[in-house]
Amino acid sequence: MILDGKNYAAELKDVLTRQCTALKETHGRPPSLHVLLIGSNPGSLVYVSMKQKRAYDFGMQSTVHRLDETISKESVLNLIDELNQNKEVDGILVQLPLPAHLDANEIIDAVCPEKDVDGLTSINLGRLLRGTPSLVSCTPLGCMHILKQWRSDISGLNAVIVGRSTLVGKPLSLLLTHANTTVTLCHSKTHDLEIHTKQADILIAACGSPKLIRKEHVKPGACVIDVGMNRLTDGSLSGDVDFDDVVHIADAITPVPFGVGPMTVAYLMSNTIQAMKNAYGNLD
Ligand code: NAP
Repeated sequence: MILDGKNYAAELKDVLTRQCTALKETHGRPPSLHVLLIGSNPGSLVYVSMKQKRAYDFGMQSTVHRLDETISKESVLNLIDELNQNKEVDGILVQLPLPAHLDANEIIDAVCPEKDVDGLTSINLGRLLRGTPSLVSCTPLGCMHILKQWRSDISGLNAVIVGRSTLVGKPLSLLLTHANTTVTLCHSKTHDLEIHTKQADILIAACGSPKLIRKEHVKPGACVIDVGMNRLTDGSLSGDVDFDDVVHIADAITPVPFGVGPMTVAYLMSNTIQAMKNAYGNLD
């Protein structure tokens, strides 16, 4: 089974676009997403322009604040404060990575949790940890959506995640824990990775290491989700899983591209819509 994220994202888009239209009719404006892009990291430029385009496709408003690489911390915090106060702004996203002189945690924590559509503020991460999440990081949400297409009930299964970042691995480990899987979180210091990954009914690769996961890492019949998006020197895109090697042994697998990537973007839109609904007390 190829877990077709592009298709799932298209289905989700239909639902979300209808919600945007309904919000616009009720409140006189669609949901609005503001992205802070600091500096000119080439990857960030591509991601931000794609997010903006997708926001328009969903019928949302999107504004990119392009800020100079050398901008002071105070100026960034002032802009975030303005956006926090602005009732017409629903979602605020700080595109990472930030230039070295800016502390990402400090900048992210300046975003009001109710507008933190990346789910990365201390408050939203804490709510997730506690099991009462509000806005959750988009890639983990996308992975959970894909898993539901594989099996509606994953309770009791062994889930192994390779990668423990705050953006993907850690929040995903919490979502999977709340879904009653038994979670193992691996990282670069894990000894004998294969011993752990071989136990996985659900194996999620989010390590930024091209084709690290090969068939010897995979239990036959497992569901393999590849979060990795690695640009190789020849310009091609590679996942963290060697798809051709693993596809015959896995029960289900996501491709790269068109697996997790489209779901991440769809959940960014979903979070922005949710933020607007929350702001208007519209909990449908
Ligand atoms: P990250 O912050 O660099 O974290 C990578 C994690 O993988 C770290 O925990 C690291 O361990 C671990 N790791 C690295 N090499 C490893 C190895 N050989 N064996 C085991 N663990 C290893 O990366 P990220 O932001 O989570 O992103 C991971 C990948 O997902 C990247 O390719 C990124 O481009 C992609 N991504 C895709 C999407 C999407 O929408 N599809 C969204 C976000 C990220 P340590 O903690 O010990 O350093």
